[in-house]
Amino acid sequence: MHHKSLFPDPPKVPESNVHHLLFNRPDQKEWPDYTLFVNVATGQRRSFKEFVERVRDGATALGADVAQGGLGIRPENGEVVGILSENCLDYVALIHSLLVITVPFALLSSYSTPHEFKHASSLAQPTRIFASPSLLTLALTSGLPVDRIYLLEGENKGYTSYNQLVSSVRTNGIPRVPVRHATKDTLAYMVFSSGTSGLPKVVMLSHGNITHAALGIMVVGMEVGKVTAPPVWNTPEGIRVSLNVVPVYHTLGLYISIFYHFLSPSTMVMLPKWNPEVFFDSIPKYQITNLILVPSLVHQIVHHPRFKTADLSSLQEIGCGAAYLPPQLADQLRVRVPAMKRITVGYGLSEFTMGATIRPVSGVLNGRAKDKHGSVGILLPGVEARIVRPDGSLAGPNEVGEILLRGGTAALGYKGNDKATRETFVDGWVHTGDQMRIDEDGVLFFEDRTKDTLKISGMQVSPVEIEDTLLAHPGKLIIDVTVAGVTGGRTSDERIPRAWVVLSPAGAALGEKVVVARLDVWVQERLSRYKWLRGGMGIVEAIPKSPTGKVLRRVLVEQYEKEVNAK
Ligand code: AMP
Repeated sequence: MHHKSLFPDPPKVPESNVHHLLFNRPDQKEWPDYTLFVNVATGQRRSFKEFVERVRDGATALGADVAQGGLGIRPENGEVVGILSENCLDYVALIHSLLVITVPFALLSSYSTPHEFKHASSLAQPTRIFASPSLLTLALTSGLPVDRIYLLEGENKGYTSYNQLVSSVRTNGIPRVPVRHATKDTLAYMVFSSGTSGLPKVVMLSHGNITHAALGIMVVGMEVGKVTAPPVWNTPEGIRVSLNVVPVYHTLGLYISIFYHFLSPSTMVMLPKWNPEVFFDSIPKYQITNLILVPSLVHQIVHHPRFKTADLSSLQEIGCGAAYLPPQLADQLRVRVPAMKRITVGYGLSEFTMGATIRPVSGVLNGRAKDKHGSVGILLPGVEARIVRPDGSLAGPNEVGEILLRGGTAALGYKGNDKATRETFVDGWVHTGDQMRIDEDGVLFFEDRTKDTLKISGMQVSPVEIEDTLLAHPGKLIIDVTVAGVTGGRTSDERIPRAWVVLSPAGAALGEKVVVARLDVWVQERLSRYKWLRGGMGIVEAIPKSPTGKVLRRVLVEQYEKEVNAK
């Protein structure tokens, strides 16, 4: 079946820079002094007015002509700004500065190993990089000249910081640059995703994509606000105070940071790095009303010794996305926080900007929207979906198939990879590689992931990337490999990577134990921790393949799970 959102359509997307939608709102005139951001690590605070000024000054410093004292960064010169940083206040300010001058930015993982960073840089091709002090050394390996690397926070001799750039606008009296015109297809940013198969790719998203996402959330807010007291992003008591630990370089963290709290007065408390002690301390300290989490963090929180005794009384709402949240896990949270009004979940993917569904929406739309246990809710405004069978025909109600998505949030495609773009973005439909069913009330249920990509701690993991890394071991210890997800993750849904390898003569001479140990060390040096082979390594005679040469991962996984269960 072909499904349309139950929500009213969002207004037509204006052909303009998304900055206008987010910052030229009449109601914002009343918000200048409230605290927009707090950084838990540094105690730094920024008011709404200070933030907006900083964004415009940052845009001026970056975009004004060199002759006027600016850096003269222009999109027409092919400039792309890479951002390599933990969460910090200027991360968000820099993003908005770049949106003002329509210079695309690439979100680089702050957990990258040098090997991953090199690969990411070669794909996104940044012409300049803003890095946090702790990641400066990594940024320098990009090969960019030192004067094209800037500091995002703090000061360091020899490097220009974002802070200095912003200050230079006032000290040098650089005239403010205007907000540049953008059409809906103007490239805004790039984020990494493995899509449905293969190595990580760079997804390109536009000003129109962000605008669509923001308008969709506004429509939801208005609809929910009509029926239940608070609009989605606000609390009945007033300003919402949310605590965010999800990295801004990930789609979920990005959207939480770049627009939610510009839609109504709200404060975002940022935790640069996950730390359970600081997390539990921060909830009463800042009177946090909203948490934004991924399922693996929910798991860690409910299993932490402090969970039973911590003061969680200020909490009202928890938002969770990026991976499947098992209902039992959600219930464990709910039991401990009875005052909490709701746990909001959403399903989405980078290739669809942010989200495709939202839950709960109980009672919304004159009762047409039903809230169902274990579901991922209903389609967001303006989103259309199809559930298709393997042969491409449309599945019926409640029949499981791949979900295809269409709407203004469908990304522009993958940078420099026409083949993958053609395979994933077909006639306006995004092929997600996710298995879902949609019931007779238009409620969506996530069933499985048919794509090879794994989701660990909310992050994508590409088995092909791990396979390539293993094969690249200089000792040539193996001649064939396959990597797939097996049970053992933090949540019932999470699969962790396990490798099956075929030894080379050199590997066989060393013996299984030595090979496994060496390959493990190699992977740990080259790849981020969440990609390590927590599922272990199996030595096999041959990797099972179909007559057409397709690796039969499922055979290996099923055999492994049987053995584990038998123990
Ligand atoms: P990313 O682009 O990193 O956000 O990854 C997107 C993928 O994460 C989706 O295609 C799904 O496989 C998975 N995902 C995101 N949200 C959910 C959810 N609420 N339930 C289940 N899987 C999800």
